[in-house]
Amino acid sequence: MMKVKEAFEIITKRFEKAGVDSPAFEVSVMLEDLLGLPKMPERTASETVLAAEQEEKLFAAAKKREEGFPLQYIVGNWEFFGRKFLVGEGVLIPRPETELLCETVLKYFSRSMPPKIVDLCSGSGCIAITLAKELSGADVTAVELYDGAFEFLSRNNALHENCVKTVKGDALEPFGTFDCVVSNPPYITAKEMTELQKEVTFEPETALFGGSDGLDFYRAIAKNWRSHINEGGLIAFEIGDTQGEAVLKILSENGYRSCGVLKDYEGRDRVVTGIR
Ligand code: GLN
Repeated sequence: MMKVKEAFEIITKRFEKAGVDSPAFEVSVMLEDLLGLPKMPERTASETVLAAEQEEKLFAAAKKREEGFPLQYIVGNWEFFGRKFLVGEGVLIPRPETELLCETVLKYFSRSMPPKIVDLCSGSGCIAITLAKELSGADVTAVELYDGAFEFLSRNNALHENCVKTVKGDALEPFGTFDCVVSNPPYITAKEMTELQKEVTFEPETALFGGSDGLDFYRAIAKNWRSHINEGGLIAFEIGDTQGEAVLKILSENGYRSCGVLKDYEGRDRVVTGIR
């Protein structure tokens, strides 16, 4: 018979040893999401005794986490731009820095007619769904190729009132015409793929690996989709922090104008934009 606060202390110590970044925070998230316990700080100091099956569930999850399995997959959901998205093996976990990509698109269209947007390599759909929710009247299509990720995209769309259209297809095969092409494509280089943080190795390689120099998707999307973007429309990519110059060059070589790089909240190059 173990009290919540004892379980909290034991697992927090084990996470510290295992090199988990924010041990207390992660245990607290598990207590909330796996066991449905109320908020911090009461949660972590709770004298409540865990039921046998709660204890088992919590310690099984803690063991997976110690082995490097991502917290987000364990709890099965994560927040992005203030909304909840379902995640699990087979789909990239939404990253906070990707909110900058959404903010950039929102700003560009803040004073215009509701735009028609396509999100390529959509994954969980966090970008497409955020844009649809934040830009009233926008017509947003999310494109995802892989079964596992498409399943999460569909479930997240259902969770958010089916606010986007979903297309199961290849981001490199354009269709239709849009005011905006937005994408957080795979952009990790071959070398970086060999040096990934343990947690990231559990995420789908298809969502990470961008070819030997990490730039394959930027080259193909910029070229293939150009004639599918309306004059004055926007192309916006998330990039790896060392790829700003290279992606700017790809956009200008493909005839986009007013190209620019934006920095994320950590001061790293994170978004590249161009205008058709
Ligand atoms: N930002 C992700 C990471 O390294 C990569 C996502 C991507 O390739 N689009 O953790």
